[in-house]
Amino acid sequence: MTFPTFADIESAARQIAGAAHHTPVATSRTINRRIGAELFFKCENLQRGGAFKFRGAYNALSRLTGDERKRGVVTFSSGNHAQAIALAGQVLNVPRVIVMPSDAPEVKRLATEGYGGELVLYDRDREDREEIGRRLARERALTLIPPYDHAHIIAGQGTATRELIEDIGPLDYLFVPCGGGGLLSGSAIAARALAPDCKVIGVEPAAGDDATRSFRSKRLQTVHNPKTVADGARTPSLGQLTFPIVLECVADMATVDDPTLLRTMFYLWERLKLIVEPTGALGAAAALEGAMPIRGTRVGVILSGGNVDLTQMPKWIEHR
Ligand SMILES: *Cc1c(COP(=O)(O)O)cnc(C)c1O
Repeated sequence: MTFPTFADIESAARQIAGAAHHTPVATSRTINRRIGAELFFKCENLQRGGAFKFRGAYNALSRLTGDERKRGVVTFSSGNHAQAIALAGQVLNVPRVIVMPSDAPEVKRLATEGYGGELVLYDRDREDREEIGRRLARERALTLIPPYDHAHIIAGQGTATRELIEDIGPLDYLFVPCGGGGLLSGSAIAARALAPDCKVIGVEPAAGDDATRSFRSKRLQTVHNPKTVADGARTPSLGQLTFPIVLECVADMATVDDPTLLRTMFYLWERLKLIVEPTGALGAAAALEGAMPIRGTRVGVILSGGNVDLTQMPKWIEHR
């Protein structure tokens, strides 16, 4: 087990250059006036595959040996990582098997199939996705690429914050959505190197607050299939790599309930004209709803993804 460093993020940035988008940074005077701070939104919803996950996936797959590339990879994911592995594998010509819950949003399932991944569906309540992934890896000699607890994945995800700080300068706060903590770990390592005074805040859905509890108690806590609209953050716990990194490099954690998250998502659609998915709005929700004393400061917010299942809209409008 190797812990990723800022040098690994620099190396990942070189590795993904030309393949991943250098995503834009959005700002809004209306939002800045309302909050009394300068906010910079890093638009990973506009990344290839619709989320930051392409960064880590491409970084990991492009580092496989020729032999590993030929045999292919297997991964487990509820959506965006699956889509990213499917797409990165298409670009790099690596066969990929994706273990996905049968209740994953249809947009994410169809997109994954569209990028040419082989799907293996499982029952979220009865089966263990990691076990299925490990079994397939063994039986078919595939390389397992987990969604967050992997040094190349974390380093790849860290390139988004590296770009953000290089583009707009140092920050006082950085709000980052947190599921298994891959994005948060990479972001925190990058921020520590490029803007050491920046407080990195991890943000989770309130129903799945395992990382917040882990951060506070300093012992790894878990949650089982939390009910939340933030489907990208329904992970059971932080990982063996991400937990220690979060403990060491993250300043604080915050949680957001589903109605607040949905209100924020609609607000971003309306104000920034940016389609962000519920999980992708976690950081923005914490920043905009006063989770931290950010008045008068420079604030980065990672909008982590934009793969919205629009068939859920009527339900969301009701629940906000
Ligand atoms: C995966 C994902 C997250 C959480 O990332 P982790 O590395 O698992 O913490 C947040 N937002 C979106 C849109 C995602 O797809």
